[in-house]
Amino acid sequence: MTKYVYSFSEGTKEMKSLLGGKGANLAEMSIIGLPVPPGFTITTQACTDYYKQNKELWSDLLDEIKSKLAELEQTMGKKLGDATNPLLVSVRSGAVFSMPGMMDTILNLGLNDESVEGIAKAMNNPRLAYDSYRRFIQMFADVAMDVPKYKFEAILERTKEQKGYHYDTELTAEDLKGIVAEFKTVYKLEIGKDFPSDPFEQLLMAVRAVFNSWNNPRAITYRRLNDIPHDLGTAVNVQSMVFGNTGDKSGTGVAFTRNPSTGENKLFGEYLINAQGEDVVAGIRTPQSIDTLKDDMPAVYDEFIRITQLLENHYKDMQDIEFTVEDEKLYILQTRNGKRTSQAAINVAVDMVEEGRISKEEAVLRIEPERVNELLHPKFEDKALKAAHLLAKGLPASPGAAAGKVYFNAEDCVAASSKGEKTLLVRLETSPEDIEGMVAAEGILTARGGMTSHAAVVARGMGKCCVAGCGTLRIDERAGFFKVGDLTVKEGDYISLDGSTGSVYLGAVDRVEPKLSGKFETLMTWVDGMRKLKVRTNADTPKDARIAVDFGAEGIGLCRTEHMFFEAERIPAVREMIIAQSLEARMTALAKLLPMQREDFMGIFRAMGERSVTIRLLDPPLHEFLPREEKDIIELARTMSIPVDDLKARVDDLQEFNPMLGHRGCRLAVTYPEIYAMQAQAIIEGAIAVKKEGIDVKPEIMIPLIGSVKELAYVKSIVTEVADDIIAKSDVKLNYLVGTMIEIPRAAITADEIAKEAQFFSFGTNDLTQMGFGFSRDDANKFLGEYEEKGILEKDPFQVLDQAGIGKLVKMGCELGRSTNPDIHLGICGEHGGEPSSVEFCHRIGLDYVSCSPFRVPVARIAAAHAALKEKSGDQVRDK
Ligand code: ADP
Ligand code: MG
Ligand code: MG
Repeated sequence: MTKYVYSFSEGTKEMKSLLGGKGANLAEMSIIGLPVPPGFTITTQACTDYYKQNKELWSDLLDEIKSKLAELEQTMGKKLGDATNPLLVSVRSGAVFSMPGMMDTILNLGLNDESVEGIAKAMNNPRLAYDSYRRFIQMFADVAMDVPKYKFEAILERTKEQKGYHYDTELTAEDLKGIVAEFKTVYKLEIGKDFPSDPFEQLLMAVRAVFNSWNNPRAITYRRLNDIPHDLGTAVNVQSMVFGNTGDKSGTGVAFTRNPSTGENKLFGEYLINAQGEDVVAGIRTPQSIDTLKDDMPAVYDEFIRITQLLENHYKDMQDIEFTVEDEKLYILQTRNGKRTSQAAINVAVDMVEEGRISKEEAVLRIEPERVNELLHPKFEDKALKAAHLLAKGLPASPGAAAGKVYFNAEDCVAASSKGEKTLLVRLETSPEDIEGMVAAEGILTARGGMTSHAAVVARGMGKCCVAGCGTLRIDERAGFFKVGDLTVKEGDYISLDGSTGSVYLGAVDRVEPKLSGKFETLMTWVDGMRKLKVRTNADTPKDARIAVDFGAEGIGLCRTEHMFFEAERIPAVREMIIAQSLEARMTALAKLLPMQREDFMGIFRAMGERSVTIRLLDPPLHEFLPREEKDIIELARTMSIPVDDLKARVDDLQEFNPMLGHRGCRLAVTYPEIYAMQAQAIIEGAIAVKKEGIDVKPEIMIPLIGSVKELAYVKSIVTEVADDIIAKSDVKLNYLVGTMIEIPRAAITADEIAKEAQFFSFGTNDLTQMGFGFSRDDANKFLGEYEEKGILEKDPFQVLDQAGIGKLVKMGCELGRSTNPDIHLGICGEHGGEPSSVEFCHRIGLDYVSCSPFRVPVARIAAAHAALKEKSGDQVRDK
């Protein structure tokens, strides 16, 4: 028979998939002797089976829960619902991957009108008893029964106002008793039934609520955003309660063993005296820094330090720890690997290697390639920052520099962002309902909450700039403005946020590109020593080429020549070339373009030095260069002194029904060989000139859109004839390669033939995906969303390489190519070259390099190292 319920003493940290992250770590901590309140875990399998049983709890499961509960009562010497010595429990969700704030927790379960008196007497603290009771009713109603929280909060606020209190902690036992009565009335009004008084019934309702919460919309959104499978289910932890709300010698808090923003090796955390559960996170009172615990309760502080160090040593990673102090006795309620910014991730990983805790390989594996992107993002420019008008200062909750228009709710933020606006989400405080808005916004600003508030934790997890707890803002979310002093900032106004200092500025402050250094460099040296795959870049200008080299690019994998034709001062000559009715006329136009192209290539060769530069000859359909508007056509006809009608006829002539499958790529060279001849001349002459400057250039000429070997042989002969002739006449020795892009399925299938004529292949996976699937790149966005939602496609194949289909074509192309040309050099230059899972695939099929846009070069380097390390360890899956 399947075992569905485990005591904390029966589990270990390795049992995450069964017990959930929280449950497995509670078990582990119990076993290593930490002060964890006893309890048990109902497994994730029980949750998935619950869904299979049409959301019913079955009798075997109920029996197991009963028997574990009896064991717990025995251990604690208390009974659930007892009138004199009652056991209270928390019911906590715990998925395999931590999903902060996504699932719901119920505290103080087991309270009813009898047991509340039992607690009051047993703990000699009526205030505690009724404070716990009112929390329980509210949480239970909210989590299990969907009664909106504000209905209860309104009562609490009103009572505080009537009594003239500032804080919840000022409420007396009598006040709380009245509040409990009112809460129960609200419950009955909302649900139509009395608040359940049978504790076991409460427990089962809570367990079901946790199971159900696995599929609440915000949990689903979170999983979607973080690529967490939807069928894992959540475990339920039932744990005996400890009380942070007994008075001034109690409290509750959250701490990280290192700073989660910077990675600094210093305990970082907050706590609230006389508080329970999520009070710290909810930002109801401003929490105190963990440092002051030293003065408040020195012995507890020392014990806490000892335990945090022990936990970090045990898990060999930065820990995020939740704790509660009950009458100066410390309890640990949770530990997990802490979420951190990518900067902190890198600093912690490198430090831990230096401290001898983890290996370099482990350090590299801990860096999620995708997230390194954040480090490469802009910061505010010093001068602009000095001149900027500082509006307010909040907490530096998640670093980064963001500027945008303010919006006061998630929906407006999403709507404005989808129109291409840069937006900032400004809220009193955020809640899980705001997730979509947080994703859409450039940054997040809240008036309430601390460094461990929802906004702060989620923003750090997303790598998004956040300023939290900016108390001087008076925000009116509904009316859509905030005030600071006399100043009003309305919806749609620009402000800027500095998440590293907590500063909020008026207007959009200028930003500059970041400089990488120190630990990042160290880590990247390790990365480069571990990977086999080379990383090149896609760059069309010397500027992009230089950025990419700074980011570690080892060559250019794709230099497109189109943009050189599109530049304003060149377009007349380009048009002349296209309109030309005779070879002679076309040659005249090309002669004008030649020197410009040569200059372009020289700039790129200089920027890349001795690294390889793959230049792709002209690809787009010719009509793209021609004017569309009547007045532009008339003007062009005048400057070229040809009749308007002739020009119009020529433009019409060039129109295509399906330009993507039309007269482009090497097909242009089949009809107009002189175009590629000019480009080849410009490349080779440019290379020779730069070689004479003392740089050993390595040009590679790439012919696009080849479908058959004869096509390649023909177009290649145009190129080599020109190139060899120039080299022969020059006084330098220049080596160059000619290869092709494999982007038409027929080319991949006949790659053995094509490889006889090519020195290299570069897989153009954008077009290969387009033509392999038959999905137009320009129209697919109209329907691909549905494909993903309906699970027909898991990912957009234009972003993440479809390994099973398009990837198979690539693999086949490699194998066939090598079978006839063992020395052939192989790479990929589609968007996929910078996407981690695709990079891993490229490693597995044995490509020599990937090529991606400059900012993705570091991402690809790390992904390539991961691929090599995973291959070595035979491990494909890693924890999130
Ligand atoms: P989340 O996954 O949202 O962090 P938790 O299950 O960790 O939710 O519960 C939130 C908070 O509730 C904990 O940080 C802790 O402060 C409080 N809590 C949970 N269980 C107990 C318990 N047994 N005793 C006291 N407080 C508890
Ligand atoms: Mg927690
Ligand atoms: Mg292409």
